Amino acid sequence: MVGAALPGSTLVLWICWLALATLGQHTAARATTKPPMRHEQTQTHMGTTFKLTFYCDDEATASQAGKLAFARIGEIDSILSDYKSDSELSRLNRAAGGPAQPVSEDFFAVLARAREMHACTDGAFDISVGPAVRLWRRSRRSKRLPTLAARQEALAKMGFNKVRLDHQAKTVALTQPGMLLDAGGIAKGWACDEALKILRQHGITRALVDGGGGVSVGEPPPGKSGWQIAIAAPGRVPGQPLRLETTLLLAKQAVATSGDAERSVEIDGKRYSHIVDPQTGLGLTRRIQASVVDPDGATADALATALCVLGPEKGLAFIESRPYSAALILQMDEKGQILRYPSRRWPRLIGVGIENP
Ligand code: AMP
Ligand code: MG
Repeated sequence: MVGAALPGSTLVLWICWLALATLGQHTAARATTKPPMRHEQTQTHMGTTFKLTFYCDDEATASQAGKLAFARIGEIDSILSDYKSDSELSRLNRAAGGPAQPVSEDFFAVLARAREMHACTDGAFDISVGPAVRLWRRSRRSKRLPTLAARQEALAKMGFNKVRLDHQAKTVALTQPGMLLDAGGIAKGWACDEALKILRQHGITRALVDGGGGVSVGEPPPGKSGWQIAIAAPGRVPGQPLRLETTLLLAKQAVATSGDAERSVEIDGKRYSHIVDPQTGLGLTRRIQASVVDPDGATADALATALCVLGPEKGLAFIESRPYSAALILQMDEKGQILRYPSRRWPRLIGVGIENP
C-alpha cells in the first residue's frame, strides 16, 4: 500500500518508479489526441457535500458509476444516521436494554471497526458517546452546560464495553437502557472508501472521494503522481477565507481532519467542541485540530477524532506506534499561537511529496 508501508530505500525506488510511470503517461498522452476526461459530481449526504472527482473516457460508465457511488453513500447514511429515525442505528438505539438485535453485514462491519478503534485508542474513540452528544446539542441550544447529575446520568449509559457484538450470529446488544450509538466520527470516512470501491468496480481507478472532513483517493490523475489535497489552518474567522495549513499529494490513501473549526458552542467564554471526551462527557475545550493519513478512510476518520481527545503528547505517541498512519496535530495556545505536532512519518508517509510543510 503506497509509500506508507515502505522502508526508506524502497521508498526512494518507489518514487523513481512513480516518476518513470508519470513520464510514460506523458508520452502516451502525446501520442493520443484525446486527453482523459475528468468528471466531477456532487451530492448532499450526511449533512455535507460529497464530491466525486475521477477520470473516465466513457461518458455512460462515468454517469452510471457516479450514480451508484452516491447511492452507496446514501445507503450507508440510511444505516448510520442518527437523525433518521428509521436508520439501523436508530432502531438499535431504540432497542437499548433489550435483547440482542440482528443487524446487516454493513452495520456489523462498521461496529466491529468502531470497537477496534475504541480498543486501540484506549477508549478515546467511542461511538457510545451518544448520550453526551445529546447533552452537547442541548447546551448548544440553551447556551448552558449540563448539570453534574445530567452528565453523570449520561456517563452511566456510555462505554463501548456495554456493547455486545456477536460475530457468529451478527447480532448486537446495547446492554443498558438509554444507550445511544453515534457513528458521526467514522461514518463519512467509511462512506468515502465505499464510494471509491464502487468506482473501482466500474474500472475507474483514478478517483477521489471528498466527504467534507475526509478524503479517500485511489490512483493519481493521469500524468500526476498524486492528488493535491489542501488542509485548512485552524482558527478560521467567520466570513474570512480559509487559510491553508499545508497541501498533501496523496495516492491510494485517505486523510481526515477533525477539530472544533466547524462545530462548537461557547459558554462563559469557553469553547466546547462537538467532540466529546468519553471520560468527562463534556465537549473538548482544548483548541485542537488533528489530521490523519491512513490507507483506510474509516480508520483515518476515527483516528482524527480520537487524536483530538488524546491531545498532542498521547496522540503522537499512539500514532507513532502505527506503521501505516501519520498525523499532524495543531494546537492553539492561550495566546492564539498555533503549535504544530507532526508525527515522524508525516512527510515521509505521504510518499509522493508534501508542499508548504
Ligand atoms: P469528526 O468530525 O469525524 O471528528 O466526528 C465528530 C462527531 O463524532 C461528533 O459530532 C459526534 O457525533 C461524534 N463524536 C464525538 N465525540 C466522539 C468520540 N470521543 N468518539 C467517537 N465519536 C465521537
Ligand atoms: Mg472522525
